[in-house]
Amino acid sequence: MQYIINNQGCGEQGAEVEESFEIFDGHAHLDELEDLPAAIERARAAGVIGIVAVGMDMASNLRTLEIAGQYPGFVFAALGYHPWRIRESSIDENLAFLETHIDRCIAIGEVGLDYKIKVRKPLQQHVLREAARLAARSDKPIILHSRLSHERVFSIAKETNVRRAVFHWYSGPLDLLAKIVTEGYLVSATPAAATSPPHRAAIRNAPLENILLETDCPVPFGSVASEPRDVAITLCEIARLKNLQPDIVARQTTKNAHAFFDLLKQAPAAGLR
Ligand SMILES: [Zn+2]
Repeated sequence: MQYIINNQGCGEQGAEVEESFEIFDGHAHLDELEDLPAAIERARAAGVIGIVAVGMDMASNLRTLEIAGQYPGFVFAALGYHPWRIRESSIDENLAFLETHIDRCIAIGEVGLDYKIKVRKPLQQHVLREAARLAARSDKPIILHSRLSHERVFSIAKETNVRRAVFHWYSGPLDLLAKIVTEGYLVSATPAAATSPPHRAAIRNAPLENILLETDCPVPFGSVASEPRDVAITLCEIARLKNLQPDIVARQTTKNAHAFFDLLKQAPAAGLR
């Protein structure tokens, strides 16, 4: 199913396209897409004005930097060390990579804690704490993965004095969401806002000023691998959940992305508005 945005709201395939909005994909694994140039073209045609490409480990970070270099002012690299990729023997070199490449990235991420996997919790916490300290001292935003670990991820962000944090695909408790918002942190919404009850509850409850759009592509939406243009699905679902016109959601979330990632500073000569 393809979503089409028009000025009557968000419809399904077949609706006439009457207006396209400027939308921003704040979390995409571009290094994992099958046909990246075609996906970038489709994203631009869908009104996507920028993408943050997130890295998972050194190989993925290097590829992400390369992709950002190919699409200046459109793809921005975030460098991370995802909990799924943590191996005790590789922690030092991965953290050192983040440190030495900090000036080449727009954000630190994807990093976080995933308590559903087998990587030992103290190792995960060590990596997250070091990544958060680096984000804090270089004043970069951080993109946080949290599964069965929301409270701990929040406390590490706070204790390391991270100023800008986004809880990616937030599906955690609503009382913690209130603390996230009070702290001035953000949450991001994915196309799963169409289907996942805890994600829907979080997005319904979060102020629009605290929400970023994303896809987490190529995570499948339905049975199909997602890609950055599907951030339009996220936009439509937020508009429905909050009973707002899609143009309001597009304008505010793109403004949020500009402020959070400090986009104009990153790409003063780029086409970003
Ligand atoms: Zn991700």
